[in-house]
Order: sequence, then structure tokens, then C-alpha cells
Amino acid sequence: MSKKVVKKTIRKVINNIFKKKVVKAKAKTRLIVANWKMNPVTLKEGLKTFAILKRIDLKKIKDTIVICPPDIYLADFSLKYKGSKFKFGAQDVSVTNNPESTGEISAEQLKNLKVEYVIIGHSERRALGESNSVVAKKIRNAVEKGLKVILCIGEETRDINGDYLRFIEKQLLEILDGFNKKYISNLYIAYEPVWAIGRGHGAVESHDLHQMNLFIKKVLVGIFDRKIGLSVPIIYGGSVDEENAKQLIDSGEVEGLLIGRASLNPSVFVNILKLI
Ligand code: PEP
Repeated sequence: MSKKVVKKTIRKVINNIFKKKVVKAKAKTRLIVANWKMNPVTLKEGLKTFAILKRIDLKKIKDTIVICPPDIYLADFSLKYKGSKFKFGAQDVSVTNNPESTGEISAEQLKNLKVEYVIIGHSERRALGESNSVVAKKIRNAVEKGLKVILCIGEETRDINGDYLRFIEKQLLEILDGFNKKYISNLYIAYEPVWAIGRGHGAVESHDLHQMNLFIKKVLVGIFDRKIGLSVPIIYGGSVDEENAKQLIDSGEVEGLLIGRASLNPSVFVNILKLI
């Protein structure tokens, strides 16, 4: 056998081992989050949507599915369906535990309602003025109270100079600086480019998502260490639908999805779960 053929064979074997590892890693439970935002208009409609979701045979679906209805309906789901295959999450949480806070909902209150997850730093909250330091405080507070946090990060626009990468790095550094490693298993990162959310542009290309996924991992390794940094699951959100979900998961190599509009229609949402 020539040297060239030997080298090629070795590379093939290594690639196969690596692929197997990747496949194994992917077989881990993924996190699929339905962000209902301010929908639906009535609790009755929300319960109807959930009743359809409940009918799906989840035995075949290994992923963790988190439904995030508006807070006003949360208790109707989280208390009644606690222990079911579905988990429930809030779309935000207060930055403070001070009870003298009109209109706020604390991490402790969510926890007492058997809510397990909370989305923090969504771009629609940031558009209302939420800063990285507020997001950081909310996260610290939420994990200390035992909630699992889905931290949203994402650039507003993309440029050819790669400034968006610096933007993502800054968000992560400012938000996770001082994060207590003992809560690391409570942290998920949702990469949600602002331009991809809602109607208009469409989702990120899966190869760009893969690059961003690696970049976020690199920043996390820098903030924590290799082992801890690589343990944080990265999920994707922004115009996920039936057409792109599988490609985003497979080629983007993300560990889950955060789904807005497509999660409001139960048959579309179920189809996405089946496709991925
Ligand atoms: C979102 O707002 O988090 C989101 C992902 O929305 P959509 O899927 O509708 O783009």
C-alpha cells in the first residue's frame, strides 16, 4: 500500500470515529422550545392547542419539549400537567426578588408554580430597553432559584467584516462574566439572530449556523474552561419551520430549537418534532 493510500485510510477511520461521536452526541436529549409570545388571546384556545399536542405519541420523541405560554396562563399548564412529558417555561422573569415590584413575576414564584424553564434576554425584551447587565442579573437570580435558563443572544445585522461576531462575543462576556459554574447545567444558549426572527428575512443558513455554533462554543470555552464551555447546549431560534428545521439541526449541529410562529399551529409544531 502506498503512503498516500495509508494516509487516506487513516483519515477515513478517524473521520468515522469522529462521526460516530457526533452521532452519539446528537442522540442526547435536545431542547425544543415553543415560544407562544402573547398568543393566544384566550386561555381556552391555549388549552385547545395543548390538548392537540398532548395527543402526540411522545414515546418516540426523545427531545425535551418546553412550552412557554404567556405568564397569565402558565399556572393552568404547569400545575395541571406537571410530571407530563411536557415542560413549561416563562418568557421572562423579574430582575428583582423585592416584593415591592408592581407588575413583576419573580423566579421564586415561577419555581413555586412548577415552571422549570425561563427565556431570558429575548430580543423583543431587549428592544424594550433590557441591557446585558440586567440580563446577567436575571440569569443569576433564576439559576439560584433552580430555574433552567434559556439565554437568548443574537446580532441585529450581519456585516462582511465580521463585526457581528464581536457583538456576540461581547454579549456573552458581559452576561456570563461571574456566572457561577456550579449552575452550568441550568444554562442553555439560544442563538437567535434578530434579523431572522419573525416575518421578513427567513432563517439563518445552516452552514452559517454551524460556524456560529463553533464560535459561541469557543467564546464559552474562553469564559469557563474547555469541559464546562463545551457542556453548554446551544440551540437555534429564528423563522424555524417545517422546511428548514431538520437541516438547521443536522447541519447547524445545534442541540435544539426555539420556535416562535411555527409553534402556534399544533399540527405544524408536531410535524417539526417528527421531522427532526
Ligand atoms: C422568537 O421570537 O424567539 C422566534 C424564534 O420567532 P419566530 O420563530 O417566529 O421567528
